[in-house]
Amino acid sequence: MELKLFDTLTKEKRPFRPLDPNNVRMYVCGPTVYDFAHIGNARPVIVFDVLFRLLRHLYGADHVKYVRNITDVDDKINDRAARDYPGEPLNEAIRKVTEQTEKQFHEDVDTLGCLRPTVEPRATEHIAEMRAIIEKLIAGGNAYVEQDHVLFKVASDPNYGKLARRSLDEMLAGARVDVAPYKHDAMDFVLWKPSKPGEPSWPSPGGIKVEGRPGWHIECSAMAWKHLGEQFDIHGGGIDLVFPHHENELAQSCCAFHKERMANVWMHNGFLQVEGEKMSKSLGNFVTIRELLTGWRGRSWPGDALRFAMMQTHYRSPIDWSLAACDNAFNTLKDFFSVAAPAEQGAAPASIVEALADDLNTPKAVAELHALRKQIRNPGDEASVALGNALAFLGLDAARFAAWVAKADAKAISKAGNVEDLIADRVAARARKDFKESDRIRDELAARGIVLKDGKDANGNPVTTWEIAR
Ligand code: AMP
Ligand code: ZN
Repeated sequence: MELKLFDTLTKEKRPFRPLDPNNVRMYVCGPTVYDFAHIGNARPVIVFDVLFRLLRHLYGADHVKYVRNITDVDDKINDRAARDYPGEPLNEAIRKVTEQTEKQFHEDVDTLGCLRPTVEPRATEHIAEMRAIIEKLIAGGNAYVEQDHVLFKVASDPNYGKLARRSLDEMLAGARVDVAPYKHDAMDFVLWKPSKPGEPSWPSPGGIKVEGRPGWHIECSAMAWKHLGEQFDIHGGGIDLVFPHHENELAQSCCAFHKERMANVWMHNGFLQVEGEKMSKSLGNFVTIRELLTGWRGRSWPGDALRFAMMQTHYRSPIDWSLAACDNAFNTLKDFFSVAAPAEQGAAPASIVEALADDLNTPKAVAELHALRKQIRNPGDEASVALGNALAFLGLDAARFAAWVAKADAKAISKAGNVEDLIADRVAARARKDFKESDRIRDELAARGIVLKDGKDANGNPVTTWEIAR
């Protein structure tokens, strides 16, 4: 079976050939940790988790190294720390914000069925590597020092712009680059800048006397270098990162290490959208992963349903996020799990692996799940075993799903409270032909998520049973 992946740099789907099949290396840009992640942020986490699982299957779990960083130096983090912990030393407050947010992020993406990456480096622990790269760039004529800043000199890199495939004018507009007094050219971007008083700061490179902090792009170049080397196999993230973030990472790393390429394959997931617009914090059209898991507008979904909803769309296409899609995913999964045999450790049906090997074609994999579902005749038959294995291979977990459903039912039952009393009142109302009252009780219970079923017992007497609405 041949794995093919679409490369943003060459704009083609190519057979994947790892530089070293014993050590397949992937870097994915991770979260900036200052607040709960939204469901759009979950998309790259899920997409690259599916790829990680596939690579582990193809090359062996011990032969794949997946690095996803934690960005813990950022203005948004500083602002949040000052807001949430006023009066505390900023560095202490920043530590609290980043540790807390990292923990929340892990809880959320664990629930979405994502394996932890092999390494999750923090930017603040790689300042030495950032300085080292910056020194190489200055020495090589690719960067310069101006007014206590270090800037990357875009004109020194003839390959600049190849990833984004944009003209200089388009790039200028896209990056919203400011003309700043310390820039020799508007396109040049910051590698290092002086810290403001009270902000986190480190000794600067390039002979700069005042302490400073790194620019965003250099962080990823440094962490990828430290954990994966000068060149590696796959670099991923959301499509919004192509420019300027990945273009700049690519320029920094290639110029510092005198290499043609940074990663052999650049992969980017499409946006998760709401009514045609990218879900983002700044647009305010977002819903957090946590809200969807624990309660949003009175509804919630298990992580597996959210993950499965995401898989219905190919990773390079936009997703229009809707509650109906979450409900559909929930109902389909519930049905699949009700007939699938328990998964066998490490097994994966060939049809599913084949679908994913074609540039992570998850919609095709989902179609294969439906096909398997249709073939099931008896519990434990071949198709039910294949379905169980397929679900597990895609990171969809029967036990986790069942635990969520049990918890949700228990919650609904405790909320329903005196259901039996109300049913008795309703039976009495019906007996005295007070249908207005009996309907009122039915509606009241329905509003609490309880559906009544009227029937007759063995002696022909009316009985009413109830269940949790789904
Ligand atoms: P950020 O915290 O904004 O840097 O985003 C973290 C990751 O989520 C990056 O890989 C982004 O490209 C990705 N991302 C952010 N918003 C969306 C969205 N609406 N749809 C898909 N991916 C997104
Ligand atoms: Zn990055």
